[in-house]
Amino acid sequence: EAKQAGIGKIRFYNAEIAAQQNQHLALVEALKQAIQQQQLSLVYQPQYHLASGEICGCEVLVRWQHPQLGAVSPAQFIPLAEQHHLIEPLSNLVLKQASLELDQAGLLNGRLQQVSINISASEFHTDLIPRLTRDVAWLQRLRPFLQIEITETAALEDLHTSAEVIKTLAAVGIRFSIDDFGTGYSSLSLLNDLPIDEIKIDKSFIDHIVDSPRSHAIVETVIKLSQAFQLNSVAEGVEQAAQAAVLKQLNCHSAQGFYFSKPLPIDDLQQLLQQ
Ligand code: C2E
Ligand code: MG
Ligand code: MG
Ligand code: MG
Repeated sequence: EAKQAGIGKIRFYNAEIAAQQNQHLALVEALKQAIQQQQLSLVYQPQYHLASGEICGCEVLVRWQHPQLGAVSPAQFIPLAEQHHLIEPLSNLVLKQASLELDQAGLLNGRLQQVSINISASEFHTDLIPRLTRDVAWLQRLRPFLQIEITETAALEDLHTSAEVIKTLAAVGIRFSIDDFGTGYSSLSLLNDLPIDEIKIDKSFIDHIVDSPRSHAIVETVIKLSQAFQLNSVAEGVEQAAQAAVLKQLNCHSAQGFYFSKPLPIDDLQQLLQQ
């Protein structure tokens, strides 16, 4: 009896794994189609210069509306794209669509000082350089404002390759930001060795900046560090007025988060900038 139950259990377990694998593959297939049919959309989260209160840039974030599942989070489908060789076409789509939308909205004339786009670690091992230096009109329009966000982990994975890629792209004026700073293996030699322009302080430190002296001290130190290296400091995930006030007092350069604005469709960003 026990043996039978055991066998039954194994069968059930196998069926469950098979069902999960089918779901996984169906999602990959749907993502592939969404990329091919250009069904991904973009939102733009404004970044605010803290001293003046002016919008100084934005971060581009990709969105996917699945016909049955509804909105799928990039935290879920970006890793999927990385695993299934879809990150390059996805990334190209984001780059091109952002450039066209921002240009059409008249925002590539200096009104936005920087446009930040996220790049996955795995893209360092693809043809990132030719992709970002191509002489196509839409890319030329965006490039003077383009900033690439990479994580510490991505940069450190293969520091030699990252350094080569970043140096080559920096030479044509593309800027680099270290995203989620402080959550990976923060390496100070990274700041020393790479021509980066910005440090993005992770939300997890901003969350407790008001009530935790430790978080406050970390943020203060990172801001001072960026000043010493003449880098911009940007705080992410600012949700409360009190957090924004502390950041301003610490001379953090800029900030983004729901307190200032959610990520917006291009029309809403354009309207906000016209006010
Ligand atoms: P990230 O680059 O660290 O982006 C910040 C995330 O925090 C975004 O989530 C944004 O919508 C969210 N956020 C902004 N302000 C607040 C706030 O005040 N409170 C809270 N709770 N959240 C806030 P999202 O859009 O879901 O993106 C998640 C991650 O997916 C991003 O983290 C980024 O690593 C990745 N990602 C998004 N778009 C792209 C893309 O086009 N390409 C690549 N390679 N990765 C992307
Ligand atoms: Mg980012
Ligand atoms: Mg981030
Ligand atoms: Mg983060």
